[in-house]
Amino acid sequence: MKIQIIKCLKDNFSYLLINEKNLDAYVIDPGEAEPVLNYIETNQINLKYILNTHHHGDHIDGNNILKKKFNAKILAFENDRDRIPMIDIILKDAQIWNDDIFKFKVIHVPGHTLGHICFYFFKEKIIFTGDTLFSLGCGRVFEGSHNDMFNSLSKLKKLPPETDIYFGHEYTLNNSIFCKKIDKNNPHLKKKILKVKKKLDSGQPSVPSSIKDELECNIFLRAKNLKEFSKLRNLKDNF
Ligand code: ZN
Ligand code: FE
Repeated sequence: MKIQIIKCLKDNFSYLLINEKNLDAYVIDPGEAEPVLNYIETNQINLKYILNTHHHGDHIDGNNILKKKFNAKILAFENDRDRIPMIDIILKDAQIWNDDIFKFKVIHVPGHTLGHICFYFFKEKIIFTGDTLFSLGCGRVFEGSHNDMFNSLSKLKKLPPETDIYFGHEYTLNNSIFCKKIDKNNPHLKKKILKVKKKLDSGQPSVPSSIKDELECNIFLRAKNLKEFSKLRNLKDNF
């Protein structure tokens, strides 16, 4: 599987997952159609499926054009069936999706929104976390409770440490400021920030991160309990 990172809008990431044998592909969270379209047309990709982590516009606004142009099918979570337009196939929590192209598990992670899901490609050890888990941060809790978000992050913490994380926004450097403020003497964090800066300076995005890196450096994953998590989330919301 080849993962092509497509930058969308101001700081969104969309991802094209390409089967290199026949160029069949999935796209995750096309926040706008044009940059995805450009890549597909230049590289003669066959777009088969559109996957959405949640219903926010910056993750689905490219759906319509891409669906029409390539006759691609939209896959999204059952609870979002009334707010993601034109869903073709409903996904359920813990469902394993398996077709000729790719295989993944759906992980329901309410908090940022109630219908947020992650796509876990367990064979490749890759997860797409949308606006739930960022590098050095987590999504704002818009619809769920802090408890929902804490439990959702706890699910992700249990994945194999070597799992690569592809997240929804380039917030990493900004997030690092908050982590550094709370967690001054964390040597892993210092190293991670240097690594991120080097990548960004050379024009690369900070994706992917890994579960291991985030367990060591992400203050929201380091929170030991709900109370601690809740305090951090409130602090960050007003940071
Ligand atoms: Zn969002
Ligand atoms: Fe977003």
